[in-house]
Amino acid sequence: METRKEAAPARAAATVAATARRDADGIFHNPWPDSEPRAFREVLLWSAQREMQRLPKDPPRGSFPTATPTISYPRASDSYFSATWIGHSSALLQLGGINVLTDPVFSQRASPVQWAGPRRIMDPALGIDALPPIDVVLLSHNHYDHLDEHAVRRIAKAHPHVTWIVPLGLTAYIRNWGLRNIIELDWWQETSVIGLRVTATPARHFSARGVLDRNKSLWCGFAFERHGRRGYFAGDTAYHPEFGAIGARFGPFDFVMIPIGAYDPRWFMNTMHVNPEEAVQIYQDLVSAHPDNPHPLMLAIHWGTFRLTDEAMDEPPRRAAARWAAVGLDADRLWIARFGETRVVQPSTAL
Ligand code: ZN
Ligand code: ZN
Repeated sequence: METRKEAAPARAAATVAATARRDADGIFHNPWPDSEPRAFREVLLWSAQREMQRLPKDPPRGSFPTATPTISYPRASDSYFSATWIGHSSALLQLGGINVLTDPVFSQRASPVQWAGPRRIMDPALGIDALPPIDVVLLSHNHYDHLDEHAVRRIAKAHPHVTWIVPLGLTAYIRNWGLRNIIELDWWQETSVIGLRVTATPARHFSARGVLDRNKSLWCGFAFERHGRRGYFAGDTAYHPEFGAIGARFGPFDFVMIPIGAYDPRWFMNTMHVNPEEAVQIYQDLVSAHPDNPHPLMLAIHWGTFRLTDEAMDEPPRRAAARWAAVGLDADRLWIARFGETRVVQPSTAL
């Protein structure tokens, strides 16, 4: 345990690991090749291709399996760690006596307006009113399928003591939404809130909420720890070379959340979202530094909720499970959750 506490502080880490570059005009860039957002003409080309193709049909609304969440109200005991999948990248973590939400999205559309844009296939599996008292919310970036103004405002009102942990630049978007406590982090920068240690980690992605604000705020994942229980939320990301370093520095993890959906067509999406095979590769990278530890539970996120891209909506979990088996990973470590399903996370290390 002591050696973990000696992990390199944020400033030292920044000298040895990839950091996002920020131009003088405040625009962020990924540090890896071929990571700039797609140009407008490429967006047009994708749209044109979509018109000409027969895309797989959306499944009937509400047709993915659901479960009744098992929530401890108001909070769980200090030694307890559970995760409940609300849908997409939204999860409730009951982590050693505090309640944490990831990218809470509850609106019907992942869009600036509620009359157009990607509409839900599956409703949020837990209503905002059914949330236990929330202590910390992790926001990975400002895309509409991750940052839902209506949900943020309602959570801020109902849970005024929440600390919102966000990447650099995101405060500008949310500061007038009724939030009291916001902590901005750069990649590899760390903070501590009521015993929860959180570090923002690199992701290969981009940001935008309108047409003129591209990459004005950063995007990230989060590694977190409380009472020796460790987790990782990858946010939205394409594949990049830093996952091994994230696992080495902040693992061994008990629990990880990795996106598996929104990847086709690859020529367009491969610089912003992993496909299921790359998601499994991220998992393997994360665990590679701790070969003797039991493997963490992986919650597969970012699928089944909103139709964002071209692949069939039920394809991501099938491909993730196939790859998982093909590389010889233990089937019960991959959690393809039902909407609303809760699982207790067992420790990966003896406490
Ligand atoms: Zn995104
Ligand atoms: Zn997304």
